[in-house]
Amino acid sequence: MDMDRKLAILADAAKYDASCASSGTDARHSGDGRGLGSTEGMGICHSYAHDGRCISLLKILLTNACAFDCLYCVNRSSSNVERARFSVREVVALTLEFYRRNYIEGLFLSSGIIRSPDYTMEQVVRVARALREDHGFKGYIHLKTIPDADEALIAEAGLYADRLSINVELPSESSLRALAPEKDVRAIRRTMGKLRLKLDEAKAEPRAPRFAPAGQSTQMIVGVDGASDRDILGASANLYGAYRLKRVYYSAFSPIPDASAALPLAAPPLVREHRLYQADWLMRFYGFEVREIAETADGMLPLEMDPKLAWALRHRDAFPVDLNRAPREILLRVPGLGKTAVERLIASRRHRTVRAADLRQLRVPVARVLPFVVLADHHPAGVLDSEGLQATLAPAPRQLSLGL
Ligand code: SF4
Repeated sequence: MDMDRKLAILADAAKYDASCASSGTDARHSGDGRGLGSTEGMGICHSYAHDGRCISLLKILLTNACAFDCLYCVNRSSSNVERARFSVREVVALTLEFYRRNYIEGLFLSSGIIRSPDYTMEQVVRVARALREDHGFKGYIHLKTIPDADEALIAEAGLYADRLSINVELPSESSLRALAPEKDVRAIRRTMGKLRLKLDEAKAEPRAPRFAPAGQSTQMIVGVDGASDRDILGASANLYGAYRLKRVYYSAFSPIPDASAALPLAAPPLVREHRLYQADWLMRFYGFEVREIAETADGMLPLEMDPKLAWALRHRDAFPVDLNRAPREILLRVPGLGKTAVERLIASRRHRTVRAADLRQLRVPVARVLPFVVLADHHPAGVLDSEGLQATLAPAPRQLSLGL
């Protein structure tokens, strides 16, 4: 099979994995003439898919052959797809060539499980080792960790990779048992636990060997089982707490060819994935608990508005908030006020009284903020109680005209 065909198959097979953003690693470059590449983004074309995903990594599988038969996966052993496999040397050559052509800023390498977890992990590690040690590659590397692979291999992977990830795929053990019976949830968690220990060690001891400075991440598939958004966010909160994950990525299930009857026929709306990302952000940076964000009876986030606005509309009694007096944690709950705006507001109110006109300078969506706040020259009066507030702030979506 020629390289073009392999690349077509193995890049296509990797596209379902969303856990690939390249943020958070340490800065390094080859400006001193030694090695190749950088993680500083210079001279690199970043491109983003319409849904905001970074696509400037060479994102491929080493092979799409897999011994497992996870029903939701196009690479499962019973899938009727053409199989291909790169050699270690081929992946290394492709990465270097694409980097030199400025197509990519790094490599995201995953693999189906072949022979054994250790064998597969060893192949993945060999790619990273060759890039770093033989070619002085300083670009970004994200490696998938194979659950229950030998600890020494995981330690070596962390030496070369910026980020390591293991996909938990589904929020509950029962869903995993039903849809991916060969996956061992305990093995996944064991490996995540080992990664966390190594990450903690590397952080605490400056002389400890380098270990994945961009941390570990995981992916959950949305809309393939009956899990509600509350279930998914609850599982994420657990993972952030127990394994100190850097990111949980949410990937809306895409129907696959020759799918099992156990899978849904249609993909969930992509906006559901987007709302989960917003909710995840609220949990990590805005002090919200899962039970607050997804407190509806069915545990689903509303699709028609962001979860912070939805929370504010359900809790109108918590508003209006006085922007000149309220503490940071309360300001963070005001719809339209992001973290940066809150910091600027706090800095600004130290030496002057904040007025409605100042909101423009904070570059916040003024019409969204005003109904929820009190300023020196503004009070929302009865607006908060008005029935039409939701329609004003979250109008029903309208299809744009093509102008034909
Ligand atoms: S182990 Fe990974 S690659 Fe293999 S079938 Fe399951 S999800 Fe797909």
